[in-house]
Amino acid sequence: MRIAARLLGVSASPTMAVMQEVQELRAQGVDIIDLGPGQPDFDTPELICRAGIAAIEEGFTRYTPAAGTKELRQAVAEKYNRDCGTSFDFSNVVITSGAKHALYNVCMAVFQAGDEVLNPSPYWVTFPEVVKLTRAVPVTVPTMQDESFILSPERVREKLTEKTRGLIVNTPNNPTGAVLPREVVFELAELGRERNLFLLFDETYERFTYGGKIHVSLAEVAEELDDAFAIVGSFSKTYAMTGWRVGYCVGPRFLMQKITEFQSHETGNPCSISQQAALAALEGGVESFESMRREYEKRREYLLQGLETIPGYRCVEPDGTFYAFPEVSASMERMGISGSVDYANFLIQEARVATVPGSAFGLEGHIRLSYATSMKNIEEALERIRTAVA
Ligand code: PLP
Repeated sequence: MRIAARLLGVSASPTMAVMQEVQELRAQGVDIIDLGPGQPDFDTPELICRAGIAAIEEGFTRYTPAAGTKELRQAVAEKYNRDCGTSFDFSNVVITSGAKHALYNVCMAVFQAGDEVLNPSPYWVTFPEVVKLTRAVPVTVPTMQDESFILSPERVREKLTEKTRGLIVNTPNNPTGAVLPREVVFELAELGRERNLFLLFDETYERFTYGGKIHVSLAEVAEELDDAFAIVGSFSKTYAMTGWRVGYCVGPRFLMQKITEFQSHETGNPCSISQQAALAALEGGVESFESMRREYEKRREYLLQGLETIPGYRCVEPDGTFYAFPEVSASMERMGISGSVDYANFLIQEARVATVPGSAFGLEGHIRLSYATSMKNIEEALERIRTAVA
């Protein structure tokens, strides 16, 4: 059986592979602490679940328009208008089956063979794979640990060629936790306009910032971008709704219209029940996520303090998301381990702690630890790692 060429270059999600391995080990009775997944450990807030149940009970179980219900699209638009001073309406928004789906739709609509798409690294695992699916070429732009992994517009400039069509930015960033400062967002917008680039911002972790850091959305400079932009967002992390599969893209009307046409053949509408739940999440206001954010903030403090006490670990303070991305190369050297995959395997085997190797995100010598798990698990995981590497 022949597999089509467009899929041959695409690899499976390494973060999902870690999840799978943990499940298999647990099925064998192994007691493992999982710091791998980018998945909130909180249950979906009750108010949101109730809206989902009400949708079923009221028979809201049929197809909706392909781009999602007008109410939910309008509510997303208003969120941006409120937070960023835009004047979007429902026609600037397409509701999708998660942010991953939104990202795929935007990339399919904009990139094609012959294009180069700039992809700051370390990157979320899906970005280069989705770019490859469009037949464009992902081009890495490094971000540096000693610059707190903040993307430098200068380094973006260095990678520009006449084939460069776009730039994908993820702020707050998975895996580094870096939150782009306002001036960098503005500089990137200027560069985009000057060099005719399509700017795609993944703002999935927009609500997860700490220590007074503020997320700056691309929407704040949308008017200056000559319609060459899109923002991808998600309900998954903010409202602990990973399984409900609701995300969205926001952008110029003609692009959203094209994506709607594509989506109408590709998946049709996102789940009607989940859309009603998402609407309740937005209407519920900050209360529905702020208590979770505060809990993440406590865990983050604890994890960062703990990592400092592990020999050979060095961690830039992550200002956002719910990940830490320590450099562990000194520990690797001490243990005689040469790659982050082997190091993560060592942690699974010897410490019974699952992490994700830095190589999955395009940077060796690091591991990603998720603190979207209980404080008790974080305490125990730190203790286990400390003992294993001692
Ligand atoms: N974007 C980033 C940067 C992510 O880290 C993730 C999940 O890990 C997603 C998007 C996926 O979000 P969703 O569950 O809405 O598809």
